[in-house]
Amino acid sequence: SYDRVWNFSAGPGALPQPVLEQVRDELLNWHGAGMGIMEMSHRGKEFMSVLEQTEADLRALMGIPANYKVLFLQGGATQQFAEIPLNLLAGRSADHLVTGSWSKKAYKEAQRVASQAGGSARLAGSSEAGGFVGLPAAGTLDFDPKAAYFHLCTNETIHGVEVFDDALIDAVPAGVPVVADMSSHILSRPMDVSRYGLIYAGAQKNIGPSGITLVIVRDDLLGHAPATLPTVMDYKVMADNDSMLNTPPTFAIYIAGLVFQWLKGLGGLAAMEARNAEKAGLLYDFIDASGGFYRNPVEKSARSRMNVPFVLTDAALDADFLAGAKAAGLSGLKGHKSVGGMRASLYNATPVEGVKALIDYMRDFQARRG
Ligand code: PMP
Repeated sequence: SYDRVWNFSAGPGALPQPVLEQVRDELLNWHGAGMGIMEMSHRGKEFMSVLEQTEADLRALMGIPANYKVLFLQGGATQQFAEIPLNLLAGRSADHLVTGSWSKKAYKEAQRVASQAGGSARLAGSSEAGGFVGLPAAGTLDFDPKAAYFHLCTNETIHGVEVFDDALIDAVPAGVPVVADMSSHILSRPMDVSRYGLIYAGAQKNIGPSGITLVIVRDDLLGHAPATLPTVMDYKVMADNDSMLNTPPTFAIYIAGLVFQWLKGLGGLAAMEARNAEKAGLLYDFIDASGGFYRNPVEKSARSRMNVPFVLTDAALDADFLAGAKAAGLSGLKGHKSVGGMRASLYNATPVEGVKALIDYMRDFQARRG
């Protein structure tokens, strides 16, 4: 045992322990190379083989079609908020759906940079007036049928709102590519990649350590960037160079590759979905049955399996709740500062035992303080 706690951090979040153990074992000498992955050239055959295997495993896990490029970039999902409009607008307008803090940030950044690509960004729908506790009905969205793309965040990490309903994507006008920020639920369940023009995700939740930004982009969306775009921000250049125009985050890519192998070993994304549905179901059922002591405000059909925000109806108990959680070996439960309360992030690496430990603690706290 390593004296590890149950880690409910929203990100960087828990990594699978078998992956960390393998990293430890290979840290000083990777596969007999006489050095660790961190220390070797990114253009050498060892690291090149790691990169190739990592991409192949991701393609297999997600069923990524051949006409999509997989890019391992840097700058976080936040940099993609700018790179997406800069690469894809080409003088047109982008439609944005705002369903929480992250899609709102993406919209604001698109508005900020759009003119550099001769374009603009407009709002197709928002759930802000209702407090970001659900998703707008597909029929209420105001689409521009000529939009360069439609952007949404399929899992809002702070508000705990996840898109399960295909109707939202079905409603997007034919020919308008769907661009999705999947940072906080990628790899949590199977997704039909072919329904999207571009999928992006920061790595530090379900992929691996921070430092990689994954972009999965359909071929026809490459090559539309203005000539003034910085080279490292141009998807076409990065794709033509297999994400190796410059030095990629080699250690983070290696660890992501181990996470992908771990996922394959557990049965892939369908198996992860079953695990994640069970975990989230246990916690939401417990919260709903607490007689109002704990509350989650999100509409049931849009409740995130990855990020479960909840409040104690008596907020005066928050500090005691967190102190007791810490003493019980439960970490990372404080809610985002913008919404307060608590949040339990249940990423792939958190097993059902961790969720049961959390529920046991919550039940005990309510019995003492309720
Ligand atoms: N989008 C979502 C859904 C996120 O959860 C986050 C980070 N928590 C971001 C974007 C920003 O990611 P990064 O910090 O990698 O820029």
